[in-house]
Amino acid sequence: TKWVYDFGGGASDGDASMKNLLGGKGANLAEMASLGLPVPPGFTITTAVCTAFYDLGRKYPEELDAQFEASLKTLEAKTDKEFGSATNPLLVSVRSGARASMPGMMDTVLNLGLNDTTVEGLASLSGDKRFAYDSYRRFIQMYSNVVLNITHDVFEDILEDYKDLQGYELDTDMQAEDWQDVIGKYKSAVLSNNGGKPFPEDPKDQLWGAIGAVFGSWMNDRAIFYRKHNDIPASWGTAVNVQSMVFGNMGDTSATGVAFTRDPGTGQNLFYGEYLINAQGEDVVAGIRTPAPISKARAAEMGSDDEPLEVTMPDVYQQLTDVASKLENHYRDMQDIEFTVEQGKLYMLQTRNGKRTAQAALAMAVEMCKEGLITEDEAVLRLAPAQLDQLLHPMIDQDAKAAATAEGRVFVKGLPASPGAAIGKIVFDSDEAADAAAKGEDVILIRIETSPEDIHGMHASKAIVTARGGMTSHAAVVARGMGRPCVCGAGSLRINKELGEVSVAGDTLKRGDIVTVDGATGEVFKGRVAMIEPDLSGDFAHIMEWADNARTLSVRTNAETPADVEVAKNFGAEGIGLCRTEHMFFDADRIPVVRAMILASNEKGRKEALEKLLPMQRSDFEAIFRIMGDKPCNIRLLDPPLHEFMPHSDEEMAEVAKGSGVSIEMLTHRASELHESNPMLGHRGCRLGVTYPEIYEMQARAIFEAAVNVAKETGIAPVPEVMIPLVATKAEVALMKARIVKMAEAVLPKSAIKIDYLVGTMIELPRAALRAADIAEEAEFFSFGTNDLTQTTLGISRDDAARFLGDYEKQGIYEKDPFVTLDIEGVGELVKLGAERGRSVKPDLKIGICGEHGGDPASIAFCHGLGMTYVSCSPYRVPVARLAAAHAAL
Ligand code: PEP
Ligand code: MG
Repeated sequence: TKWVYDFGGGASDGDASMKNLLGGKGANLAEMASLGLPVPPGFTITTAVCTAFYDLGRKYPEELDAQFEASLKTLEAKTDKEFGSATNPLLVSVRSGARASMPGMMDTVLNLGLNDTTVEGLASLSGDKRFAYDSYRRFIQMYSNVVLNITHDVFEDILEDYKDLQGYELDTDMQAEDWQDVIGKYKSAVLSNNGGKPFPEDPKDQLWGAIGAVFGSWMNDRAIFYRKHNDIPASWGTAVNVQSMVFGNMGDTSATGVAFTRDPGTGQNLFYGEYLINAQGEDVVAGIRTPAPISKARAAEMGSDDEPLEVTMPDVYQQLTDVASKLENHYRDMQDIEFTVEQGKLYMLQTRNGKRTAQAALAMAVEMCKEGLITEDEAVLRLAPAQLDQLLHPMIDQDAKAAATAEGRVFVKGLPASPGAAIGKIVFDSDEAADAAAKGEDVILIRIETSPEDIHGMHASKAIVTARGGMTSHAAVVARGMGRPCVCGAGSLRINKELGEVSVAGDTLKRGDIVTVDGATGEVFKGRVAMIEPDLSGDFAHIMEWADNARTLSVRTNAETPADVEVAKNFGAEGIGLCRTEHMFFDADRIPVVRAMILASNEKGRKEALEKLLPMQRSDFEAIFRIMGDKPCNIRLLDPPLHEFMPHSDEEMAEVAKGSGVSIEMLTHRASELHESNPMLGHRGCRLGVTYPEIYEMQARAIFEAAVNVAKETGIAPVPEVMIPLVATKAEVALMKARIVKMAEAVLPKSAIKIDYLVGTMIELPRAALRAADIAEEAEFFSFGTNDLTQTTLGISRDDAARFLGDYEKQGIYEKDPFVTLDIEGVGELVKLGAERGRSVKPDLKIGICGEHGGDPASIAFCHGLGMTYVSCSPYRVPVARLAAAHAAL
């Protein structure tokens, strides 16, 4: 086995395609060297060594030593120096490099190979004794920190004390002799902090120590934690790069810097970076000195007084920008590079695809496509669907947010339930929210939890914050649907509605106080934090058009109010995938009628109330059909348990009693009759249709009459899809369908324009998925209700999950919240089975998904794989779903 790969100095064993074996850094160093760029030579010990090291119980594979010695010899030959030589010493850097960049691991040791002898060699080679001893003390400190685990403070204290004693201000006041003194003190500090073991003098011991530290750090807690959260398997391992040193700290013609080939914040095609004269790499990172901008343009933009590299070293600048464009063209993406200038000569130390904000990713993808650097499909793939979310809502300005955090203005942190940001005054009540909004005030609704009765308050609010409930709690689902930012499950909130106060651990805010909510992170800030508005034209529109060309899945929306339907259509929804009709029953003008219907003790009373509801419901559907034109509109018949509509407070009870002419006693009695122990598994869904056929009949009539009316009015035939919720058996579908079809046959002949309608069912109970073949004999489409299917498959209540799911995720029982990302192994298996069994009976069966997962990129990829017809999600997630569907197809 080849365990060690050489790079640079005219010959490289590896290239960029070998990231898995050489790690990102090693593969790109080899690639840059092969491109003829100035890369200091070195060698890479492969990730396979790391894996073997752990397989062998922290021992190296046998052949490694010989290969290491050979590569070290080669490196000596390439650099014309000798490792450990007293007169002509080779010094190296040692760096980790996994496939994916991985914070938490040992990073870098510079100047390795220095000891009391070789430091003199470096002094005479460079002709600069001060530089040599400065490098030596840096090495001791860095090595002791990352390899021997001695904290920086130990060394910083020694240096500060020394400078104080000598009356020095700056490190530059230190002369060679001063550094020699300090080095002596550093070494005794190592002795006493390293279990009595001295600092290693033998360069080979130093090198193996550093290599061992890199491999050891692969399994430290921070690295394990990072891997777990970023889905990186432990089996990947890390590589170690040993590279000959070049010195950015050899005086004023030397420098070191980092740069992005384009602006990673905005995407602007402007070389972006910083550098320090007479410094080593870690000085830029450590922030001891403030680096200067590289280009004049950038310096001007920043209003920086520091001289840019373009001015101090014009030749190097020219060379660097040439290298940058060569790298961009070669990798066809924005690069994040590190470089060092040693006495006027440029060296490249690293290149990789640069991390970027969502805005930058978008701007760059479109610009690079226009430059001809990448194709439209590639441009689409450059923007992660999850990132897109950040572009669709007003966003908190990141600088302002960092400042607010530093000022200690984070009030509480909960679940990031619905993205976007909003500023407003605190209210604790939905009516209060509606009143304030009517006066033009921006309010933030803070509740223990929300219920369907809060819809108007949620609509009136700029954002919603709850103390209880998870990612599919009522607040979360409804807020996402409305595009309102929402933070939920902020368990440390203590709300005292009577006092008009909310507190977190003694920190109290009052009704009317201003807060800023960041739904993308789940944070709530005291006071205002500055925001920026999204731009949905231009680049955004281009990417979405290219995504639409690439995808095969259709994207619909879950919406019921005309405003939401309109928003979704503008975001590109190709139809409605779920209109939850119960949401239409809570409007102020109809809730009394709905209550009268529920309270009726017989069919006659119910029918009277339904007569009143019919025209309202019909006009709801007309509004939707008008907006959606010839696009399919899936309308679900009433689903929730009836008691959700019942009045809660005594005042409301009295009001309803008055309105319906029924006594309060009677009303209370009826409410208790409706009470259920497990309403989610109770009298809901098509079970309502079985018991009270007249409700579904009214809804079906409203749908078909609305279709006829809108067809007449606009000349365009609406495409209604009537959906039956919560079925478990074919018999339920057959029974409901027969009634719906009968209604259609009664209503539709009146239409001059032919209305094509479908009757189908939700698949949201395990039995329905298992019996999908029977059900497909009756149903004309399936829509997977993965919220209920997750709830019933996992046996976890959607509304109570927040209490323990956090622990489940922390302990790795479920990797992700199964109400957010489909549990593919379990619930997904039922979806797959249901789709297959359904299509075994009807090969062309329309199949969609309308649970919250319909807007989740990973779940969308799964749906694409199953050959679903469409996904449906809340309006503000429609663009995310379009992009995710394109990614799945590409
Ligand atoms: C579902 O169960 O996935 C669904 C879409 O219906 P609801 O969330 O309204 O129960
Ligand atoms: Mg459901």
